[in-house]
Amino acid sequence: MIYDIKDLDLDLDLNDGSVVYGFIDNTLDFQLENRTARKELLEYIPACFNKKDVYIYEVKQVHGNNIVVLDKNFKIKDAGNYYDLNLAEADGVFTQKTGIMLCIRTADCIPVLFYDRIKRVAGAVHCGWRGVYTDIIINAKSILINDFHSNLDDVIIITGPSICKNCYEVKDDFLNKFIAKNKLNRRFFERTSEYNKLYFDLKGLLKNELNLYGFKKENIYDLNKCNFEDKNFYSYRRNKTDKRQVSFIAIN
Ligand SMILES: [Zn+2]
Repeated sequence: MIYDIKDLDLDLDLNDGSVVYGFIDNTLDFQLENRTARKELLEYIPACFNKKDVYIYEVKQVHGNNIVVLDKNFKIKDAGNYYDLNLAEADGVFTQKTGIMLCIRTADCIPVLFYDRIKRVAGAVHCGWRGVYTDIIINAKSILINDFHSNLDDVIIITGPSICKNCYEVKDDFLNKFIAKNKLNRRFFERTSEYNKLYFDLKGLLKNELNLYGFKKENIYDLNKCNFEDKNFYSYRRNKTDKRQVSFIAIN
């Protein structure tokens, strides 16, 4: 099944055909070896999209903060398709080029989609704790401003299926690491009194950083699905699976 935020009855109409995006559950296993899933993904996208010209672009996600930019010189024939596993090591990709389906694979981390409605820029970013900790959001912002001359007020952000604050148990050294970076980060951790367990609100921290770095709060939307609780999604923490769900965005 494919999810998008219009299911949430939000006041955001991106369904004019200018952009195609979505979050797919475990009906597609998008781990890198699965070539069939790449072909099937194209069947899921809406009819408004010109499918015969669509290419799938993926990065080799390494829990870092590097983001690839596909600029106007990028040749679509070089786009990673479902046969090309020679991927750039990065955790995000941005482009203004049409017909390139930017894909992010996750199974607990947060898939974050960006769309500048005015400059028509799309981005897909893999945000795990390491990426957020090493400021991948600052890199995303810099790319939007420097490479695409975006006004951050025009940028819509959608966060997809990911582990929620009630399910993400961490250890104290993890808390200390984030506090050492910024002591205000403590508010994204909660200790239960009953079992003395510590939980981390990665999405809360991410949203806070997005806002802190200049993205408008009212432009940040959340699919609001916890992949750890909802068995329609894969979760590495739930059962150590190698399988991954895919989130995607493309400019038409
Ligand atoms: Zn949860």
